Amino acid sequence: MGTLPFNPICQNCGKIGTTHAYEWDSKRELVKYRCEPDMVSWAKGCGHEGEVSPYSGGGKLPWKVEWAAKWPTVGVVCELAGKDHFTKGGSRSIAVAISVEVLDFPPPFPSTPKDTGRGYEFFTVGGKKMSTSKGTGMGFAEMTDYLPADMLRYLLVRTRPKAKVDFDPLDDNDMILLYDRYDTTQRIYHGKESVSEREFEQEKRIYEFSAIEKMEKKMPPQISLTYAATVIQIYRDVKKAAKILQKTGHLPKNIPSNDLDYVSKRLEFAKQWVEKFASDRYKFELQEKPRVKVEAGVRKVMKVLAVKLERDGLKEDKLLNLIYDLCKDNDVKTREFFRSMYNILINKDYGPRLVPFILSIGKKRIAKILREV
Ligand SMILES: [Zn+2]
Repeated sequence: MGTLPFNPICQNCGKIGTTHAYEWDSKRELVKYRCEPDMVSWAKGCGHEGEVSPYSGGGKLPWKVEWAAKWPTVGVVCELAGKDHFTKGGSRSIAVAISVEVLDFPPPFPSTPKDTGRGYEFFTVGGKKMSTSKGTGMGFAEMTDYLPADMLRYLLVRTRPKAKVDFDPLDDNDMILLYDRYDTTQRIYHGKESVSEREFEQEKRIYEFSAIEKMEKKMPPQISLTYAATVIQIYRDVKKAAKILQKTGHLPKNIPSNDLDYVSKRLEFAKQWVEKFASDRYKFELQEKPRVKVEAGVRKVMKVLAVKLERDGLKEDKLLNLIYDLCKDNDVKTREFFRSMYNILINKDYGPRLVPFILSIGKKRIAKILREV
């Protein structure tokens, strides 16, 4: 008894996995089948024997056959899929054989009648294949919880079709680089960075294909992932953090609401990144009271710095020069001073870039902390 490539729905019990189609009555155009009690381990058929027409929703084609059948039906000339389908004996190879030998239809690109061709490379997350059905790795929808959807699309669009993408959210560099590259592409798209015409055209297309919503006319304000993470860890609250960014001049005072939304989203994602994925290197907790003793020279620099910080109008570049000068005058190595600052502020030997960090915490607040050293 043969097996036909058709899975009838049992007219008695309604199951589809248990039926075995064994004969085609070409005159009456009916498929004969039996609902087998012992054919599969995961379901028990009812034993019913019947006949059903394959045309009226009485069953379905097995996946590999269905794939081939759709090509002449719809007139497919190009269709790609993951490379696992393209292996010997994989669904694509079978579909190509059926298409050529049974349906007499040339298979779509990249397959030819003689060659199955190659499928897409995998998109892996942290080295694991992305999957929702197998319970391993991470699903696509899940990924949009911690990466903005346009950035996820950007990651796929900018990769050459035959290159493997492995993205690991737990790898700081993967995450920071993705955000930075996306921001660069955004700047190029808006003409804020000069590149060759060829590069401009390429980046423009990548940016357009990555967009989920309508393209914005004006470039939104850019706050890097690491800086957003710094500010959100100081203030914890997205609204407060956005206010501080206005105060420090990273955002305009009269920010349009859509720009504010854009920045708020980034702060939100930065918060998630810090909480779920970032390594300790990017995490900190601001210490309101200095608990670490510092060396006399360093202490002296801190005291003078505290006084200077209370005066208004000390800008980012001036502040850095001031720190260098104070260290030099007091015979303190700047590296030593920076480390002591991080010791005091966040109880670590390193931290976010010091000057922007001081400004985002607030000069007065830093002065207050330093006066207690
Ligand atoms: Zn049945």
